[in-house]
Amino acid sequence: METTFVMIKPDGVQRNLIAPILDRFLAKGFTLRGLKFMNVSKQLAETHYADLSSKPFFGGLVEYICSGPVVAIALEGKDVVAQARKIIGATNPLASDPGTIRGAYAIDIGRNVIHGSDSVENGQKELALWFSEGLVDNTPVLRGQIYE
Ligand code: UDP
Ligand code: MG
Repeated sequence: METTFVMIKPDGVQRNLIAPILDRFLAKGFTLRGLKFMNVSKQLAETHYADLSSKPFFGGLVEYICSGPVVAIALEGKDVVAQARKIIGATNPLASDPGTIRGAYAIDIGRNVIHGSDSVENGQKELALWFSEGLVDNTPVLRGQIYE
């Protein structure tokens, strides 16, 4: 089974969107393997977004991610990396389908309420970074109702 890292960003937390956002993934059928309400250090934000360090928006992005608590989430399921990205929607909310999280809840690209890993490999890397203590074992009892 595949795993991915999702993070509700500080704007999503401040706007009381934790429950509706989490519900999209759990109602879909994905399994929760980690859940943390936490502050983000500058070092963690910079490591997480290291690939974007040369971008002009990098400083503002790190400041945004450190501006208040976030919810770090580990999810497991079939094709969960690509599925979560679909549920999240395009980076720029103007391009996100209105049925997606960003399409429903965000307007500006720099306040797009949520992060999701963009590949299986990056999902593994990000989970190791954010959940270095490891994930929680959580076997879905209704597995046969979700997967054929
Ligand atoms: N971002 C931004 N301005 C841009 C592009 C990206 O502020 O022009 C922010 C935005 O919050 C985005 C994050 O940087 O979610 C990471 O960018 P990435 O291209 O990885 O998009 P994502 O994977 O989050 O869709
Ligand atoms: Mg990305």
